[in-house]
Amino acid sequence: MENNKKYNRKANNRIKCPVSHICGGCQYIDVPYEKQLELKQNKMEQLFSEFGYVDKIIGMEHPFNYRNKVNAAFRRLKNGKVIAGIYEEGTHNVLSVDECYIEDKRASAIIKSIAELIRSFKMQIYNEDTGTGLIRHVQIRTGFATGQIMVIIVTASAIFPSKNNFAKALLKLHPEITTVVQNINDKKTSMVIGQRNQVIYGKGFIEDVLCGKRFRISPGSFYQVNPIQTEVLYQKAIKFADLKKKEVVIDAYCGIGTIGIIAADRAKQVIGVELNSAAIKDANINCRINKLDNVDLYNNDAGKFMCDIAEQDEKIDVVFMDPPRSGSDEAFLSSVVKLSPKRVVYISCGPESLVRDLKYLTKNGYKVIRIQPVDLFPMTEHVESVALLVKER
Ligand code: SAH
Repeated sequence: MENNKKYNRKANNRIKCPVSHICGGCQYIDVPYEKQLELKQNKMEQLFSEFGYVDKIIGMEHPFNYRNKVNAAFRRLKNGKVIAGIYEEGTHNVLSVDECYIEDKRASAIIKSIAELIRSFKMQIYNEDTGTGLIRHVQIRTGFATGQIMVIIVTASAIFPSKNNFAKALLKLHPEITTVVQNINDKKTSMVIGQRNQVIYGKGFIEDVLCGKRFRISPGSFYQVNPIQTEVLYQKAIKFADLKKKEVVIDAYCGIGTIGIIAADRAKQVIGVELNSAAIKDANINCRINKLDNVDLYNNDAGKFMCDIAEQDEKIDVVFMDPPRSGSDEAFLSSVVKLSPKRVVYISCGPESLVRDLKYLTKNGYKVIRIQPVDLFPMTEHVESVALLVKER
C-alpha cells in the first residue's frame, strides 16, 4: 500500500500473541498490519463490487491498545491463586492473559489487581456451569480523552459482602479509577452486563470527548471501542451528509447520541431513536452537556419509529443509520424509501448486512455514491465502513 510509511513499524512485524489461537479475538494478530489492511480492502471490494468503487481503507497509525472497553473473567487455581483472563473461545474455561495487544494498558493493570483482591477478600467466583458463586465479570471502560476510568464489577446477585472495603482497597492501588459500579446480572446468559447498577464509588458513569463534544457513558450503554478511529469515521459520516444548517436529520440507532450531537451544529433539527433506555437517558443528558436544543430523542425500535413518522409524512432531509452488526430491517428501510430523504449515511460494522441493505435501497430509488472502510478493529477480521447513498431524481 502506498501510504504504509505512516504505520507503526512494530505493527508491520509479525506479532506473536501466546493466547491468540485459544482466545480467538485477534484473527489477524500474526499478519503484518499493512497486509491486514490489504485483506480488509480486498474483502470490501469483493463484497461491494456491484456498487462500484470502494474508497481506500483508513488504517491506524498505532494499531495497538486501542480498546477502551475490556472484559475479564476469573478462575481460582488449586493453590488458591486467582487468575484473570478471558473465556477460551466457545467454552467456560478461563484462560489467563498476561498482556493483550489491543486492550488499554491501564485496564489490564487494574484487572490484575482485582484478581489479587478477589483472593485476599476470599470472594467467590461465579461458575457458569453450576450457576453458583458471586463475581461473574469485571468490565473496565476508559474515556481516552478525559482519563476517566469506570470499573464495573458484575455480580450474580445483589448481595455483595464487603463491597465498600473492596472498592477502597482497589482505589488505593489505582487512584486513577474515577468510579466503581456493581452491576447485577442474575440471568443465565453469555451477556456480560445485566440490567441493574449500584454505584459503589464516584458518579457511576464516565465521560469522553469525540469531535469536540462531550459524552456521558453509563455501564449498559454502547460506545465505540476505538475512539481514535471513531473520530475519523464520524468526520467522514458528517462530511457525507453535507449539512447546511437547514436539514431535518434522523440519527437512527443513536446509542448515547454521538452522531446526532456531533451533527447538530450543522443541522436545523436532529431526531434520534434508540431501543436501549439506558443509552437514551445518556443521550438526553449529552444534549444538555453540549447545550443543544435542536435534538429530540425517542426510546423506541428504530423500524417502528420510522414507520410512524413515514405515516405522518414528515419531511426528512438526511438519515444517519448505525445499526448493530445484523443490520437494519424491512420496516426501517421501507420507511426510509417512503420518507425519501436526499441522503442516507449508513454506518456499519457488518459488511454482509450492509450489502443486503444497500441492495434494498438501490432497488428502491437510491444510488450508492461512496463506501469508505475505516479500520476500527486492528488485529481482528472486523471492518467498519460508512456508505453514502443519494436519492435518484
Ligand atoms: N450510533 C451509536 C450506536 C451504534 S451501535 C454510536 O455510534 O455510538 C447500535 C445501537 O443500536 C445500539 O445502541 C443498540 O442499543 C441500538 N439498537 C439495536 N437494535 C435496535 C432497534 N431495533 N431499534 C433501535 N435501536 C437499536
